[in-house]
Order: sequence, then structure tokens, then C-alpha cells
Amino acid sequence: ATSVPGDDSFDGLRLREVTKSFGAFTAVDMLDLDIPSGSFFALLGPSGCGKTTTLRMVAGLETPTSGSITLGGEDITSAKPYRRPVNTVFQSYALFPHLDIFENVAFGLRRRKKSDVDAQVNQMLELVELTSQARKKPAQLSGGQQQRVALARALINEPQVLLLDEPLGALDLKLRRSMQIEIKRIQNEVGQTFVHVTHDQEEAMTMADTVAVMNAGIIEQMGSPTDLYENPRSTFVANFLGQSNLIESTVKDRSADVVTVDMHGIGVSIPLTRAHADGNKGWVGIRPEKVLIGEEGEELDAPGNSVPGGVVSDVSFVGVSTQYLVRMPWGQELQVFQQNTGHRRLFRQGERVELSWRPDYAFLLDYSQDAA
Ligand code: ATP
Repeated sequence: ATSVPGDDSFDGLRLREVTKSFGAFTAVDMLDLDIPSGSFFALLGPSGCGKTTTLRMVAGLETPTSGSITLGGEDITSAKPYRRPVNTVFQSYALFPHLDIFENVAFGLRRRKKSDVDAQVNQMLELVELTSQARKKPAQLSGGQQQRVALARALINEPQVLLLDEPLGALDLKLRRSMQIEIKRIQNEVGQTFVHVTHDQEEAMTMADTVAVMNAGIIEQMGSPTDLYENPRSTFVANFLGQSNLIESTVKDRSADVVTVDMHGIGVSIPLTRAHADGNKGWVGIRPEKVLIGEEGEELDAPGNSVPGGVVSDVSFVGVSTQYLVRMPWGQELQVFQQNTGHRRLFRQGERVELSWRPDYAFLLDYSQDAA
């Protein structure tokens, strides 16, 4: 949370100490969130972490056990769902099967007896690129098109906040990818706040400008996709967003700007800004694509962290990259992804190699047994 206590000038969606318990079980635990107006925000986390419950409390479909929710400075914690300037798009599109696309989109306006329905619906159909499908019934459209109708139907009510609960979950991978770009474009055009719930890290990173990673009812870390990826603060975030090598290490020294650790007999320096461990034990984390691989004794262009003595135990060619498993002298297998640029030779299984990475690409995380 970025707010100062007592600051009520914030015009976005704000959750303060929001808790939701079901009996003895706490699904959402003292959640603090500030979502600025106009942002594309993603709640990302594994199944059961409390994302949907959080979204449902914002929609008014659940009431918090304690805590408050405000929107544009107004307390909506216990407002009826239809009294909130909020709309939800679900994975099941919930379109009216007997109405055509035009009437599905027009529904909210007709119910509120708005004038100028035709012009607004046409504009909305244009936004979601379904003008030519206006007179078809939902069953005649593809999954991706039906999802765009659901989006148009929600957006036409001009909610301040649009909630998206795994909206692409029912689509196949290729269509999901194109819909992610499409929804991002639409959000950009309409400028409303979108809050998107997903368990798919690639989806959250593709679409959102800010991502909150949830785990067991709390937010582990929040930031831009690059920030979360480059500088995770916990082993959970490091493992949930992409892949990480985590190497057990002992802290030797802390100075003003670096932490020096011993990693199985190898000295490694981690910039203080990337060291998120207080104890004397930690995990050195390094992303597989940040590791350089070379012949043993080769001068690799990454001074500071040269790790000799690895043996290639597996090679997978996956087109854009070659992915190696390298068994290190201390028994651990590290992942190394090498871009297939054609500028470097490939290594064979059984070959002895040297690994290296730039010190400022690594991070240091608190030690916990179950991380690796
Ligand atoms: P998923 O991606 O699987 O939907 P989620 O992160 O959205 O997961 P929630 O649906 O918010 O998770 O559920 C969080 C936890 O709260 C789960 O353990 C779930 O079983 C529990 N829970 C949710 N709703 C209820 C309810 N009405 N009664 C009891 N427990 C509930």
C-alpha cells in the first residue's frame, strides 16, 4: 500500500485491513491495497489463495468479516452489489441465449431506460470489433467472440471498476494469448480501472501494469511485472513467476551496498537492493536465462560470479532457446537457458562447463526449508 494514514484524497479502489473468514478458516487476511484509477491491475496467485474472494468482496457478492473498501473516497464495504459502480466479467460469459448480440449489449441501458441506446451499443460493438455479428445469437459466436460480448455488456454501464474473474479460463491457449492483447487494448481505449484475477503468471504479466502476488490470503509482493520478475522478495514469488535457480548460501558480510555470501565455497556478492534476507542463511536466486554457459576455463563475460565444475546432465532444444540442466559439484542441478542466436555453440550432455552471471542479476532471499 502506498498511502499515508488519514490520506483520503486517493480516488481509486482502496482496501484496508480486509479480512474474510469462513468459519475458522481465513481466506483473506488483513489485505491492504491501493489500486489507482485507470490502472490495469492483476491479482495473481495459486488456486485457493483468496483472489476470487477478494474480487467478490469488491463486487459486493461477499461481505468482509472486517476491514473497509472504498472507491473514490466513498465507503462501499457493505453497499448492495447493484449500488456500486462496479461490473464483473466471469469466465462463464452468462450471455442471454435468446437475445442477439446487439440486445445482449443493450441490456443494461434498456433496463435503466437510457436514451440513445443504438448509438452507444454500436460504439461498444465497434470497440470490441463485433459490429458485423450484431444480429447473431451468442451460440453462433466463438468463445473469444462471446467473451468480447460479455466485456461490451459490462463496459456499456460505464463502471468505475471492471472486475475480470479468470475471463479467459475457458479459451484455448492461442486464443487466450490474442484475447490478452485485445483486452489490454480495450482497457487502454476506455481508461477505466480493470482488476483481473488469474492464476496464470504469463497472463498477469502480459496484461497488467501492476501485479499483486497472493499466497494463502495475503499479498506477498506487488509491483510492475518487470519489478516482480527481476527483483522477487520471496522464494514464493521467485518460483511462481517464471523459473529460478535457488542455491543455498551462508551470509559472510554485509556492507553499505553489498551482501557477501558463501555459496558452496564460492564467494558471491549481491547488491543490497536485491538482498531480501536478514538471517545468516539464505538462497541465492538466479534466473536460468541470466546464466551464461561456457567451456571450462573459458573467460565468460560476467566478472564476479564464475562457477566452475558443472557437468551438463540434460539438453533440451526448444526452438528459441536451448535449455540445459547442469549438475554442480555440490550435487544440485541448475537450469540454464541459452538463446539460440547462432552466435554460441551448443553443449553436449556429459560435457564439463563453467557457469557465470552478472552479480546484479542475482537476488538473495530468506532461507526456508521448503523453497527449493
Ligand atoms: P481459485 O483460483 O481456485 O478460484 P482463489 O484464489 O480464487 O482460487 P478463493 O475462491 O478466493 O480462491 O478461495 C479461497 C479459499 O477460501 C479457498 O480455500 C476456498 O475453499 C475458501 N472459500 C471460498 N469461499 C468459501 C465459502 N463460501 N465457504 C467456505 N470456504 C470458502
